[in-house]
Amino acid sequence: MRVKVDPDLCLGCGICEGIVPEVFSMANEPYAEVLLDPVPEEYQDAVREAVEECPEEAIIIIEE
Ligand code: SF4
Repeated sequence: MRVKVDPDLCLGCGICEGIVPEVFSMANEPYAEVLLDPVPEEYQDAVREAVEECPEEAIIIIEE
């Protein structure tokens, strides 16, 4: 699984980082940065949860 955040949609709310800080970081505000791409197996379920919780649908999953 690969994952991206669309910086034009991201609000910088930090919900994704709260769910899976190993993959998403707000260190480079104002929007979330992806730390692990491709996403290791152990974080993939949490990334899917972050996609569902993101209020702007800014997280894009690319299944490989
Ligand atoms: S949950 Fe969505 S809008 Fe919020 S910081 Fe993450 S990518 Fe951006």
